[in-house]
Amino acid sequence: MKEVFNINFHNHEYEHCHEDECGCHEHHHEHKSHGGCSCGHCHHEHEENHKVLFWRLGISSVLLVFLVLLTGHIKVPFSVEMPFFIELACFLVPFFIAGYDILCGAIKNILHGELLDEEFLMAIATIGALAIGEYPEATFVMIFYQIGEFFSDYASEKTRDSVTKLMDISPEFATIKENGEFKQVRPESVKIGTLIYVKPGERIPLDGVIVEGNSALDTSALTGESLPQEVCVQSEVYSGSINLNSLICIRTSKEYKDSAVSKILELVEQSESKKSRSENFITKFARVYTPCVVGFALALAIIPSLVQMFTGLALNDDQIGTLLIWKNWIHRALIFLVVSCPCALVISVPLSFFVGIGESAKRGILVKGSNYLESLSKAKICVFDKTGTLTKGSFIVDKILKVGTENSELEILEIAAACESASTHPISISIVDEFKKRVGNSSSVLKNISDVKERAGFGVCATVEGKKVACGNKKLMDEENVEISDFNLTDKNSGTIVYISVDGKLLGAIIVKDQVKAETKKALLDLKNSGISKNVMLTGDKEEIALEVSKDLVLDQIFAELLPQNKVEAVEKLLSELGTSKNRGKLVFCGDGINDAPVLTRADIGVAMGSLGSDAAIEASDIVIMDDNIAKIPLAIKIAKSTNKIAKENIGISLGVKIAVLVLGALGIANMWLAIFADVGVCVLATLNAIRAGKVK
Ligand code: ADP
Ligand code: MG
Repeated sequence: MKEVFNINFHNHEYEHCHEDECGCHEHHHEHKSHGGCSCGHCHHEHEENHKVLFWRLGISSVLLVFLVLLTGHIKVPFSVEMPFFIELACFLVPFFIAGYDILCGAIKNILHGELLDEEFLMAIATIGALAIGEYPEATFVMIFYQIGEFFSDYASEKTRDSVTKLMDISPEFATIKENGEFKQVRPESVKIGTLIYVKPGERIPLDGVIVEGNSALDTSALTGESLPQEVCVQSEVYSGSINLNSLICIRTSKEYKDSAVSKILELVEQSESKKSRSENFITKFARVYTPCVVGFALALAIIPSLVQMFTGLALNDDQIGTLLIWKNWIHRALIFLVVSCPCALVISVPLSFFVGIGESAKRGILVKGSNYLESLSKAKICVFDKTGTLTKGSFIVDKILKVGTENSELEILEIAAACESASTHPISISIVDEFKKRVGNSSSVLKNISDVKERAGFGVCATVEGKKVACGNKKLMDEENVEISDFNLTDKNSGTIVYISVDGKLLGAIIVKDQVKAETKKALLDLKNSGISKNVMLTGDKEEIALEVSKDLVLDQIFAELLPQNKVEAVEKLLSELGTSKNRGKLVFCGDGINDAPVLTRADIGVAMGSLGSDAAIEASDIVIMDDNIAKIPLAIKIAKSTNKIAKENIGISLGVKIAVLVLGALGIANMWLAIFADVGVCVLATLNAIRAGKVK
């Protein structure tokens, strides 16, 4: 058991579905081919295999019961005595019916030099049992092993199916109009700027802007938000959402490979390569565990028997006595072989994380690897960027202030809008929107600009019609040597002030306002209640505004007037408070991804919010919250804790039972029946437990 599973998604499955992965070698199915093959062909084959196995196990179980009675292992009136070779031959029938594929697999593995593979171990254990005359036991072990495999296989296949289905958000086609007729084409072939049509009930195939039609969209696959979202002409829409009401026409703004759907699928697929510490532990453990147990088995088979023989501890000295000694210890050793495969662990721990990640995805939280889910469960400090995270981040222009009388409000706004037009900062967007609103959308032609320089944490500088314009905060004005002292606004206005200067002279200022999100208060409170020791706010904004925002919120610490690099310093300071031990609490940073990529990277766990549109944020973060609902952060922590707890439980149950059986087996108290029963039972139990991961309210 090397690779545990692959998550493949529907858009890739056709490539993946070749003989090797899905050719369904009867027995390798479980850990290698699962996730991928939900395509018709392979699925069918899987089902066929299951059916055949079901019949094989049924027949051999009935035969086994019959033979146990017939040969007098359990005495009934029709029991008969028979020579051992006839008895062996009889038991070989159900034995082979149940396990021929395991035996073939074992031979193949030997030829490939893989000696400690579980099929090989099972083969040795059962053949060993046959050799010492434990025919019913050998057959039973084979049957039960198959039942266990079948079951855990089935269970993990089902979960994987449901997670995959959940992630099955890729559109199959895009509808375009060619010569007045609708035509379905592959989404991959659609170029930017094409008009595509989406009927009610269909999935939007590519990101774009609506040019015709009003409708409501179901974006739950992307954001986990179940309320339909109203859209109209000019609304930006993302691929993966489902059109609910009426036909809409969309002008695509991205190619398929850059559209939301592709990005999300890529992220979830990559999440597989980032393993949690528990998973890494299990992988390493399995590598050591199996050889050790097999070694012990060998020692157990040989050493005590030799010791007993030579020290004369044997019952009597005749040949039968010696044989019995050997048989007894070999029998105990075979129990070791039965419990030597770490399947319960190797399947259930990664499966727990897989289910946890799937559960998060269902709620619109994309976790980029199980290591992050694991870290998140140990979160101690939560740091938030203010704008766009705690607050709505959609500013509205509150006031426009003039310095002199030469320029009208509209002229000031026009210059500012031109200068800000190249930026995606929420402040810029609000200023541009206000300008468009005032002049009317149709005639909103922005002035020509060049040499745009966006200064993160300061503002924007640009050349507007030959004049040097700067829009930004006090710090920017100081840098540009613009005199603003006789323009003191702070006490009268409670918004963010954007100063506008032209050629080094202050022209005026625009006051923009933001609002705290409705769900922020409760989210911060929930975090505190879930064991976060400190909520911290970072902002590049003025102190007064920071204080005003924090008024009703459960915040333990506030840093204001920070530049992006100061934000990194603040996070580093907080990190140092957590100490350096390996098991220290973790620091979570949540930002909207606009100019906080460095902090997202520096934090233990970077959470980007509402960033479906922003590639940089998706790149830099470890967890992406698809909508900008801050309540998803306590939810993510809850899911992480639940997942981690279940993974730990699974490690505990599996190891506990194995060790117990090993000890009992060595002492001669447990027999092989019990060993296989415990082994398979734990595997099933742990798999069922894994399915519970991340299921929180
Ligand atoms: P936050 O930490 O609140 O997310 P930012 O670091 O994005 O804030 O910006 C800090 C401050 O810098 C803003 O409050 C604003 O005064 C100024 N600023 C940043 N970008 C711009 C811009 N594009 N236009 C005007 N002002 C800006
Ligand atoms: Mg910001």
